[in-house]
Parts: sequence; C-alpha cells; structure tokens
Amino acid sequence: MSLTYSSPLTALTGVGPTAALRLKKLGLKQVKDLLFYFPERYEDFSKIYPLNMLPSEGHVTIKAKVELIRSRRSWHRRMQITEALVNDDTGSLKLIWFNQPYIAEQLKPGEEIFFSGNIKNTKLGSVLANPLFEKRLTDNLHTARIIPLYALTAGITEKQLRWWIKQSLPLITRLPDWLPEELLVENKLIPLKEALTQIHYPDSWTSLNLAQIRLRFNELFLIQLYVQKNKAELTQQAAPCLAFKEVEIKDFVASLPFILTTDQKKVTWQILKDLAKPLPMQRLLEGDVGSGKTVVAAIALLNTALNGYQALFMAPTEILAEQHYKTLKTLLPTQKISLLTHSKKIIAEGGEIFVGTHALLQKNISFNNLGLAIIDEQHRFGVLQRKALREKNGPKKLLPHLLSMTATPIPRSLALTVYGDLALSLLKEKPKSRKTIITRLVAEEKRVAAYQFIREKIKAGGQMFVICPLIAESDKLGVKSVEKETQFLTQEIFPEFTIAKIHGKLKPQEKSKIMADFQAKKIQILVSTSVIEVGVDIPAANIIMIEGSERFGLAQLHQFRGRVGRSGQQAYCLLFTNSAQDKTRARLNALVKCADGFQLAEIDLASRGPGAFFGTLQSGYLETIKLTNLNDQLLITKAQEAAKNIFPLLDKYPLLNKKIQQFALQIHLE
Ligand code: ADP
Ligand code: MG
Repeated sequence: MSLTYSSPLTALTGVGPTAALRLKKLGLKQVKDLLFYFPERYEDFSKIYPLNMLPSEGHVTIKAKVELIRSRRSWHRRMQITEALVNDDTGSLKLIWFNQPYIAEQLKPGEEIFFSGNIKNTKLGSVLANPLFEKRLTDNLHTARIIPLYALTAGITEKQLRWWIKQSLPLITRLPDWLPEELLVENKLIPLKEALTQIHYPDSWTSLNLAQIRLRFNELFLIQLYVQKNKAELTQQAAPCLAFKEVEIKDFVASLPFILTTDQKKVTWQILKDLAKPLPMQRLLEGDVGSGKTVVAAIALLNTALNGYQALFMAPTEILAEQHYKTLKTLLPTQKISLLTHSKKIIAEGGEIFVGTHALLQKNISFNNLGLAIIDEQHRFGVLQRKALREKNGPKKLLPHLLSMTATPIPRSLALTVYGDLALSLLKEKPKSRKTIITRLVAEEKRVAAYQFIREKIKAGGQMFVICPLIAESDKLGVKSVEKETQFLTQEIFPEFTIAKIHGKLKPQEKSKIMADFQAKKIQILVSTSVIEVGVDIPAANIIMIEGSERFGLAQLHQFRGRVGRSGQQAYCLLFTNSAQDKTRARLNALVKCADGFQLAEIDLASRGPGAFFGTLQSGYLETIKLTNLNDQLLITKAQEAAKNIFPLLDKYPLLNKKIQQFALQIHLE
C-alpha cells in the first residue's frame, strides 16, 4: 500500500500500535499531521570538529574511525556501559553509552562514522556521552547538519520522530500550493513544498528563516481571510434596532449604590450605540477582574428588555450562572428574570431576561425575539453557536447582537490576530474604592507564621480561598491536592473554622450549595481547584492562598487573585511554591510587583507563548497558530492587507477557497 496524506501513522516503517497511541498524545494521527508537526527548536550540528579542536563542553559532531568498542556491566551501579575509542587524523576520543549494550554490535572497529553528542569533562579527560551516530552522510538525519528537535512525549524519541517524518516528506511533492502566485511574489514568500521541507530539514539558517516566514504567513493569512469572510457574512444580516431608553437607563444608573467609573460609562455608551444599529453588534468587552463588567452587562440587558426584546446572559459554569442570576435580581428588581442550567430551571413567566449556562442553547429551548446575547468569560462564541441562536429565534430569524466579556486581558497583537472580527471595548480602570491586593511569595519556613496571620484575619470576619493544583493525591509527589489539604487544614491547622472543599468532580447541586454557604459565611475557608477561577464574587473573601503556584500561568493566577478584596477591604494573596528555579520565581514575582492584568498578560505571552497563555481558554484559532510569533506586528499587518485584497476575488482561486472552507471547519470543530 502506498503512503498518502491520510494514511494512519502505522503505515510508516517503525510505527507500531504502541507508538501510534503515544503519537496520538501529541495530536498526531495521520501522516499529514506529522508533516505539519514542526520542530520546537534546532541545533546546529553542521560543523564537524577535528578531534584536536573540540570545545571543552557543548554539543559537537565528529567524524572518526572506531578503534575499539566493548560493553561491560558496572556491577556496583547495575548499569550496562558501552565504551569506544575513536580517532581521526588529529587525535582520539573516548565515547560512552549507558544501558545501550546493542551499540557494541552495531559499530565495528575500522568503520568511519559520524557521531553527535555532548562533550563531558571527567577525571579521565573528555568523553562524548550517549552520542547519536550515522554511518553515511547521504541521508543523515541526526548528525552533521542543522538538526530539528521536536516536542516529545513519553516513549517517543527525537531519533524516531525524525525517521518517521523523513519517510513522510516525499509526499510533499504532490502538495499543491494554495497561496496565489501573485501573493508569493508580492510578499517574497517561498513555495509551500520548499517551506515544509526546509522547516524539518533546513539546509541553512537562512533557508530555515524563509521557511518559517512562509508558514507563519500561512497561519496569519488564513485567520485574516476567515475574519474577512465572517465580517462580510454578518454585515449582510439584519439585527433588531434597540433604541437607547435614555430615561429608564439614567434612572437605573442613578439607583446604583456606586458611581460608574469613566471606563464603565464609555463602554456602556459604545454598546448602547451598537445596539441601536440594524447590524448585529460583534463586540468583545475586556475588563480586568473586578473592573465591574456585570453592571455594564445589566444595562445592556435592561435596555434590550425595555425595547420588548429578549436577552440572554450565558456563563461558562453553573456557579457563575447562579451568581449572575442573583446579582441581576438585585440590580434589576422590576425585571422578570429566568435561570436555566442543566440542574436548575426557574422560569419567570413573561420575562425577557434569561440567565444560564450552555443549557440555554439546548434544542428544546427557543426564543421568539432574541435581541441580545451576552457571553461571559468565554472568549469566543462560535459562529455555529451563533447561527444556532438565529435558528431558534422565531420565524423572522433575526441575528441577535453579541457581546462577549472576558477578564483575561488579551495582548493587543493577539487580539488583532485572533479577534480581528470583533470590536473591542476595554475596562482598564477599576472602581476607586478598590485597594491593591497585597501579594507575597511566601517561603516554606514562613508557612506557620502565614497560618497565624490568616487565623487573625478570619477571626476578624474575613474568608479565605485555598487553591490546590490537584483534586486528589496522585503520584505527582509533593503537589498539593484539595482532598489532602482540606483534611490537613481541618485537623491540624484551623480546627476552629468551618472548612469546605470544592472541585470539578462534585455534582452541580453540591457545588452551588457550597458556594451559597460560603457566600452566607457559614464556611470560612474554601479549598478549591481552579474551578473558582472565573468570575466568582464572594464579597467578604480577603485572603487567597495558592499552593503549587508555579503550576499556573500568570493570567490565571491574576484571575485567582481577583477573587478577593471585592468589596473594598484590604486583601492578601499568598503564593507558595516548591520550585527553586530562578525563572519560576521571577515569573511569580511579576505577580507580586504588578497588579495590572493587561501588563501581566503581555509578560505571560512573552514568557510562555500563546499556547500556554490560552491554555485554559478555548480558541480554535490558536490550534492553527503553531509558528507565528505574535509579536511580529509587521507580518500580521502584511497578512491582513493580503487577505483584504484577495477576499473580494476569492472565487478566482479554487484552491484557496477550498482551503479556507477546511480552515473554517477546523475551527468549528473545537
Ligand atoms: P468583573 O468585571 O470581575 O466581572 P464584577 O462585575 O463582578 O467584576 O464587579 C465586582 C464588584 O465591583 C461587584 O461587587 C460590583 O458590585 C462592584 N462594582 C462594579 N462597579 C463598581 C463601581 N463603579 N464602583 C464600585 N463598585 C463597583
Ligand atoms: Mg465577572
């Protein structure tokens, strides 16, 4: 059977069922996945060192003749040691391998071979430890060139991946280039085939660079083209004009127990103006934790209801949906508000405002004049979900206005790329009454003192969250779990307080009962996994203690921290870590020093890349961004321009047209 793009990986020589399962963990199922599995980094083994010129440490490639080779058992260490002595015209060197006795069978004295490995200095002089080797240079994969290094998973080695990718590469010759020729010329891009070959096996750093530019352009261009397509589709749709009910809205704002911040006023006005237009609003409201997004949402919901249209407010979890429901009932006492989650249904007859989870999108739910959908703490409301809303929306099938809200500030470059089709509203300023949360990285020897500090704060009426990375004890030694920590705190540290635990495996009813008890101050300490991350509002909570904090991203930690000090009291965030790494401590110290979510997001993106940055968030686009460095504003702009120019002519390019349809599908499948 000949190899094709969609052949399963087991069609490759050397991939058996076990390896295939392991590769699946890397998201690799078919041969084409492997071709698009790009190296994480490269190492330059292209220079071959004469043996008398070897550096004292680092990676080297040498070409040398095997003088002698033998394997022996080191009996006090129970290890198989294979040693070889090799030489070239200039000198000789000792090579050593651990637990690979078969190498003594593979290499014969007298053979001339390429070796690549790390130079180590030992008491007996320099040795090359665990070197990879190749006999011929015609097909060299591992030595004497720029070597690709791929992200691995347990049981798969670089050597294997290179070998399998090498087998798949010939397929590239049949791959058509879907970028129109004139775009290649205009943007000085190399053909796709060449780029794919060079990204895996670069002939030089220059050709690698060209390959990366071409493939990054691919990623950005497709996203931008897709954005153009969405925009065009939406501007053809009608949405209801929802007039600004000035008197009622002003009354509402005057009735609030606080004064809106300037930013709140500004974004509310942007939203109200959008709602009044006959085109569907497409807006993303970004506001740091505690910046007061909910009241902005309430105004939009109220204005919609006052126009006689239905409005829905969707949250990612039942906890949040119930919280929003309660908040809205207090904020808007004259409105009839319904709650709909998988476990709770409170329907207010004749009401216009619906709060809930994804349960609001179930098949049996329908609306007759939905004017606005607000999606909280979810970056992107899929186009398909949106179309589904339209289908449910009575005989006229009006497309509702859409407002997405997020507390994870998105760096500008990312927003431009990934949310290019959304208008942005920013809440940068926080209510004046809010105090900066005092954040400390607490050393293990200060733990007891920290518990004492906490005890006093709780006795004075405060409440605490404790965040642990895991639910239950696992083989990850030393990582704290909710189960163990709850038991420990209850029995050993705070027997005088009521302590409860919450995590994703509890039933929704149990979770909402615990949250209600915590809100009612029947519980003083809540031990939790990251389930409390988004949006939860417990006014009296003033301490958050985060165990294993190195396991969370900065944006996520900042979210956790946003759970406390929400009613103007002084609050504290205590970070604990077992990591002694400077890099980790520096990252955590950024949180100690900086209270601005937007700035932390930039740091997070720069230090961990977009994948990690969005780790806990859903975004189909990011799946498609493998190579792009999102700080490359120039390339982003180039791709945007190219997409704008090509879009009106899309019908002239069947290959590109097909590609963009596949791309849309890929994004919708998330
Ligand atoms: P988030 O943006 O994180 O969703 P919320 O909307 O939950 O924030 O608001 C956090 C808290 O701040 C709430 O208790 C809310 O009543 C209060 N709040 C909102 N706006 C203001 C304001 N302008 N002044 C004072 N407090 C405010
Ligand atoms: Mg919120």
